[in-house]
Amino acid sequence: MPRPRLIILSDLDGTLLDHHGYGFEPARPVLARLERLNIPVVLSSSKTAAEMAQIAALMPGVARWPFVCENGAGIVWPDDAAQTDREDWHRLRAFMQCLPSDLRGCLTGFGDLGPDGIAAATGLSRASAVLAGERQFSEPCLWTGDDAGLKRLARECAAHGIKAQQGGRFLTLGFGHTKASRVDDVRRALAAEMIVALGDAPNDRDMIAAADMGVVVPNPAGPAPNGFGPDANIIHAPAPGPAGWAGAVTTILDDIGFDEKGKTAHG
Ligand SMILES: [Mg+2]
Repeated sequence: MPRPRLIILSDLDGTLLDHHGYGFEPARPVLARLERLNIPVVLSSSKTAAEMAQIAALMPGVARWPFVCENGAGIVWPDDAAQTDREDWHRLRAFMQCLPSDLRGCLTGFGDLGPDGIAAATGLSRASAVLAGERQFSEPCLWTGDDAGLKRLARECAAHGIKAQQGGRFLTLGFGHTKASRVDDVRRALAAEMIVALGDAPNDRDMIAAADMGVVVPNPAGPAPNGFGPDANIIHAPAPGPAGWAGAVTTILDDIGFDEKGKTAHG
């Protein structure tokens, strides 16, 4: 039976990476198996392209494929000039600078914070904060105003084609792309016939639902993606983080029939 052109689309923190740190060792053998099978692994994270390129370079086979950065705001190809194109971010910063002063005064973006401020606001090391500050497609902000101000800000954003999405801590300005809206971009770009999406948090929920098969990786530290319909094709990984990722992907590959001796998936 012909096997589908399979794509693995994966969140990083708490999914393919440990909750604390950048460890992914339990998943390394499965990443190597995917590389031998020529099955793309597309990373999808809130991190910047600068952060993700460093992580992808450590993983077998992953750096050849595009990745979705800044929570879906951007999709970047290896060696693409887009990896350094900051036009969208500069448009967002220009919008912020033109806001009425009372709104602007309550809105502090990564571009205002700088690496030390980003480190303080996020708990990242300074070196990681430098990479996190290399925004290209979106601007995470701290909002210190009231609800009425937030409503006015939303109207200002809408008038400029900008969306403000409230995350756990940051109000992120962007142009409306999300991890979920990038599923179809990935499908087209790589001519995928089957996308398996893996994630551990509510912000992965719609990406998982938009894929052909979803894997919920258990998150001992917070809420899980939930609210899937009865027809959703969802499985639950057997463990948190990269160990669970490896277990779930192994099961899927075995079930579809991607054995090690078979032909490669993509010619
Ligand atoms: Mg996560």
